[in-house]
Formats: sequence, structure tokens, C-alpha cells
Amino acid sequence: MSAQEGAPRGREDEPLSKVIGTRSAPPLAKLGLETVGDLLRHYPRRYGDPGTLTDMDRLALGEHVTVMARVSRATVRTMRARSGAMLQAVVTDGHHELALTFFAKRPGALRPHEDKLRPERVGLFTGVVSEYRGTRQLTHPDYVMVGVDADDAESAMFEASRPIPIYPASSAVPSWRIQRAVRTVLDPLTDDDVTDPVPFEVRARLGLAGRLDTLRSVHRPADQREWQRARDRLRFEEAFVLQAALAQRRVRAAAQDATARPPRAAGEASVLADFDAALPFTLTDGQRSVGEDVARELAEPRPMQRLLQGEVGSGKTVVALRAMLQVVDAGGQAALLAPTEVLAAQHARTLRQLLGPLAEGGLLGGAEHGTRVALLTGSLPAAARKAALLQAASGEAGIVVGTHALLGEQVQFADLGLVVVDEQHRFGVEQRDALRAKGRTAPHLLVMTATPIPRTVAMTVFGDLETSSLTQVPAGRAGVTSHVVPAGNPRWLERTWARVREEVDSGHRVYVVCPRIHPDADLAAAGQSPSKDFDDVPDLLELVDGDGTGQAGERAPLRAVLEVADMLRETPQLAGLEVGVLHGQMAPADKESAMARFTTGEVQVLVSTTVIEVGVDVPEATVMVVFDADRFGLSQLHQLRGRVGRGSAPGLCLLVSTAQPGTPAAARVEALAETTDGFRLATLDLELRSEGDVLGAAQSGRSSSLRLLRVVQDADVISQARHEASAVVESDPDLDFQPELQAAIAAQLDDEQEEFLERA
Ligand code: ADP
Ligand code: MG
Repeated sequence: MSAQEGAPRGREDEPLSKVIGTRSAPPLAKLGLETVGDLLRHYPRRYGDPGTLTDMDRLALGEHVTVMARVSRATVRTMRARSGAMLQAVVTDGHHELALTFFAKRPGALRPHEDKLRPERVGLFTGVVSEYRGTRQLTHPDYVMVGVDADDAESAMFEASRPIPIYPASSAVPSWRIQRAVRTVLDPLTDDDVTDPVPFEVRARLGLAGRLDTLRSVHRPADQREWQRARDRLRFEEAFVLQAALAQRRVRAAAQDATARPPRAAGEASVLADFDAALPFTLTDGQRSVGEDVARELAEPRPMQRLLQGEVGSGKTVVALRAMLQVVDAGGQAALLAPTEVLAAQHARTLRQLLGPLAEGGLLGGAEHGTRVALLTGSLPAAARKAALLQAASGEAGIVVGTHALLGEQVQFADLGLVVVDEQHRFGVEQRDALRAKGRTAPHLLVMTATPIPRTVAMTVFGDLETSSLTQVPAGRAGVTSHVVPAGNPRWLERTWARVREEVDSGHRVYVVCPRIHPDADLAAAGQSPSKDFDDVPDLLELVDGDGTGQAGERAPLRAVLEVADMLRETPQLAGLEVGVLHGQMAPADKESAMARFTTGEVQVLVSTTVIEVGVDVPEATVMVVFDADRFGLSQLHQLRGRVGRGSAPGLCLLVSTAQPGTPAAARVEALAETTDGFRLATLDLELRSEGDVLGAAQSGRSSSLRLLRVVQDADVISQARHEASAVVESDPDLDFQPELQAAIAAQLDDEQEEFLERA
């Protein structure tokens, strides 16, 4: 760790004010650019086409132009009105004139320009056309003087034909000003002034340019190929630093002490063995093989770090429960974290059901060596909460199920050995750490997700976890068929409700999903913003702008749970049916009872928001009607429809869409109707959404360090970087020999930390 302090950062930490002056620096600071490094990493957003020379009789106001012209005159004047000096030059093509204007504090600062802009000299002048007192002018143009900056007109043309970097800018700090500052900073730098987080050997092997050359190429390329290569090199660098940080996390986690929780030997009394013996089905091959990996890792004195992904219904819960039982058998406890109270309660119910008498350890009539499942959520009545806390602290409960409440300080475990996180969305790295800190030694960790995560996203967002996938769905599952229903067609809708009726009459149940809770009128009355209305799990709802034009406001209002429930109660086809509602603004007890009434069949049609998205398991539910289907994210819809067709009866998903035929929104809904391949849909979804959504804040805040890297398109870069970075970290875990990489990681962690604090 010796190199951490005073690690070389070249001149990148130097304040900009020192390099470009105390006048030029403050505006840049408004863009968050305070140091040399900040500015060098402020990459062009795109490159303007230098194009051909503009005719001087066609100088349109506000346009970026390049003209070739001869200087007629140039004079420096001090200004009386405001302090400072001004250089005014006039250039001509023989027919038209154009003014060039430069300002400075002192006349001396303008001498270099005056020296170059001698009358009769020819040059190329580039800038944005403005007008002053009826004359066209360029303020602070870039220029190349033939015979001074360039040997001849041809090489002057070359200079002028470079792609023009267009920077993320503001009205106060236009792109050209940034370009100029970058050039001032970049020109005098030498290789020693910039640090390169990519080790020399890696660069040499992959044929990557040095960092300074790369920065020059990205900020001042000669042509398109040059900036493209430089950009690719910088993408690799971002991926490399990120992967090195993740590799360090993995290595450090593996170096932590965990308590080994080996399985009981065959023949020994064991809850797991009893559970397996009583299981009413045989495990799928996938469940068996993932189960073996997990069992082996739990038996190690190092914390398991595993992500288990699998489609809804692929049987993850059983895998997790078997892991928990192995830990219980070894004398430890397991905690299961769910994203919502409804799901936590359901998990507790499911686990107790799966365990049967094994969940009644210590109770009369319970199995001899069973255990207990405690439910701990924020809204428990005081007495129940106290009891659950006691069961966790005493170790009486081998399994504790809960929401964020489990992260609270009052919650103590006798011997926490395993943390299972169901659905990662809401549990960031910080929360994982908080829970881990509750064990005497580091608990083993199993994260489950039903959202198929494309490989590179898994490598980026969950790069510190090993991944397993369940790709098979247990036999005897009938599956789901999906159809698109155009919202504007009353006959289709009638047919939909008739179909719902048929299903209910044959003993099945129906979900109706809406994106909102209240209809608009209620919203206005309550003074709520629409986004507040969505639900208590806003980050699970990925409402998208339906037609991709940003004109969402002009579309019909989104359907709301309460309004649709009222409508269904009046729908002739559904006469006599019980219609229930479920949404995140209901009290937890009401949610519970709504879910329970649907589970038992007292209520046959449940109108709900996306609270039912994850984990909810009602095998009798066979139909799902989704309103405004075109306004949800693809992965989310895929998740939603996984709620039906879980039993032996086939599922039916009706996607009511307002999307106009031929629009991207319509194409999305159609894609969903056509495929049930979750990975394909997740990838499609990612391609349609921004990086920020993918790496959402709750997931880690790592997006701040990704400037150029794109998680989906740059899959190859990420894989390569992961490979290289892992090798470097494995041979030098503390990066003692790679101080520049170490410094880059530290800088990145600082950014994350800052972002985390800002969010908190
Ligand atoms: P997930 O958590 O991946 O959504 P679950 O573990 O909840 O899936 O399993 C869904 C349903 O399938 C549950 O009712 C479960 O009991 C059942 N199940 C799990 N594994 C199997 C299997 N191997 N064979 C048959 N049914 C299974
Ligand atoms: Mg599940």
C-alpha cells in the first residue's frame, strides 16, 4: 500500500487556474472542470465536419465556417468604454469583407495575433459568424496563416480540415472556448505529465497507444480514423480501471474470513436431508448443478459471492432454501431480503409451506430437528416485531425473512452465516455491506435475480460476483402465450373480458395491470406529481416514453388501477365476479389481505400496479391483461407475464397497447408477444434505453466513471478488459507495482463515494 500516498498523478491534479489563468478557469469550473485531468477527460461529444471552405458571400449568422482570405488590415486599440484592449482585423476574398475581433486585458496579449495577421498574408479562419454594427465578424476565430503556421496553402488546408471537436458545453462556456482551453493545456504536456492506468505490458501486448498520444488524438484528431481509435483506447481504459477495481473487490472478499458451513455427512440428522426427502418433485439438472456449486462454496472458510439468475419460475427459491438449510444444519442462520413487504411476507409463507413440519422446530408436533422462519418487516405490530427480533437474536429462527428493516441497527443475529438477496434492484453495494457486517465473520452471499442480465452488464454491475444461471424451467409448466390488443378497438376489448370470464369460470384467476394508481383527477386534487403516484417501487417501474419522440404528454393518459377496477365492476361480462385492487400506497396489512384473498380465490380479478412484478406466485392465475403495455420496459413486461402460466394450465398475456402501428413502441410490444427469451428481451431493452437506466443509481453509482464505455455495445472491450485486469490484480493484489492504476481506482472510488453522499 506504500504507493497510495502521493501516488503519481502527473500534472492531472493541477488546478486549471494555474495553467490557463484565473480568468479562463472559473467558467470551466461551472462545468465541473477544475483540474487539468478534469479537462483532459472532458471528451468531445461528437466531431463536426470541417467540410469545405465557405464562400464569403454566404456567411450565415450563427454558422460555423471556415474561409480562406487575405488580411487587409489589423489594428490593436485600447478600449475606453470598458477596460481592456481589442484587435480588429479585416480579411477579404477580393469581393467581400469579414471582420475578426480579439479581446484581451492588455494590448500586449494581442501582440502575437497582430504579428501573424500582417496585411497581405493569407490564412484560413474558422469560427462562428456573428454580426456587429451591420458587419459580419468572427470573434476569436481559430486561424492558420500560410507561411507562418503552415508552410503552404495545402498544409493550411490540412490543419483546417481536422474534424472539429464539439464538447459538452453551456451557453456561458461554448464549445470553442473549451477547445481552446484543452489546446492550451494539452500542447505543452509531455509523457511524464500524464499517468496511464493501463500498465505498459498490457498496452504493449494489445498494441495500445500511450495515454498522451491518445488524448491528443481525441481532442485534436487529424481525421475520423484517428479519433475513433483514440476513443476505443479510452473505452478500454475505462473498462480496465472498472474491472481492476472489481477484481480487487473479489480478491479482498475472498481474503475475508467466513465460517465454513459444510453439509452434514450422509446419514447424519439434517434438515436439508429431510427437506430433500420430502420434496414433491425432483430437482432440475440446473438446480442440482448450481446447488452443488453453492454447497461447495458454503463449505469454504471464504465468503461465497454468487449471483443466481433465472427466469421467473425457474426454481431459484428452492436452490436458495437448500443453501439456507445447509447453513442451518451447520449451526448458522440465514437472512432473506426481499424488495417489498408483500414479497417478504410471501417468501416467508412460501418457505414455511415448502418446509412443512420442518419449519416448526421446537414446537409441539414440529419436526424433531427443524428450524423456524421469522418474518421481520417495518410495519409489524410491536409485539410481533419484538418476537421476531428475539428469534433472530437467540438463533431460534434459522431463517429470517425481511425487507430493508433487516438492515436496521436493532436487528441482531446469533450467528448469521448466509445472506440471500432476492431481486437485486434495490440493494446496492452499501446495503449488502451493511448486512454482511452483521455476521461475526463475513456471511456468504447469494443474490437472486429474475431479470435476465446480459453478460457484460453482469460483469459491470455485479462484477464482484460469480454468476450462475438456471436456464431450464421445471417440467409441467404450460408456459405463456402473448397477444397484442389495440386499445382503440372495442370489439377486441370485449373479447378480452369474455376471455377473462371463461378463465374464471373454469376456476382460474386474472391479473389486470395498470401503470398508475389514481386517475388524473385525483392526482390534481391531492397535489401529487404523477411520478409519485406510480408506486412504492418506482425503480422497478421503467415507464418509457411510448413513441420515443419525447412527446409523451400528447398521448392519452395512462390507465389507473382505481379507475380500471371501477370499470371492470361495471363490465357486463364480469358480472358477479369479485374485483380486488393492490398497489403500493395501500397499508401493508391491506396489501397482505388483498393478496391473500386473491390467493384463496375469494377475489378472482386483481387490478394492480407492478407490485406483483417479482416473486408473486399464484398457480391458479392464468391470464394477465396489461394496460398501456407500450409504456413499460420490455424486461419488466416479461417479468410481469411470468406471473401467469406457472401451474399446469397454459397462461395468456394480453398486451393492451395504444402504440401506433409502425412505431418503435409498437415494435417493442410485438417483439414481446413473439418471444419468451428473457435474455433476448433484456438485450433489446438495453439497446433502447440509456446507460444511466441500466447502471441505475441504486446499483452502485458507477455510471459516474463511465464516460465513453457503453455496457451493451462494448461487450468485447469489457471482456478483454476484465481478462487483462484480473491477471494484473491476481499477480499484484494491492497493485504495489501499478501505482498509476491504483490512483485511478482510488479516484474512481472517490467519485462513487461523492455520488453516494449526494444521493443520501
Ligand atoms: P423462482 O424463484 O425462480 O421464480 P420458484 O423457486 O419460486 O421459482 O419456483 C416456482 C415454482 O416451481 C414453485 O411453485 C416451486 O415449488 C416449483 N418448482 C421449483 N423447482 C421445481 C422442480 N424441479 N420441479 C417442479 N416444480 C418445481
Ligand atoms: Mg421466486
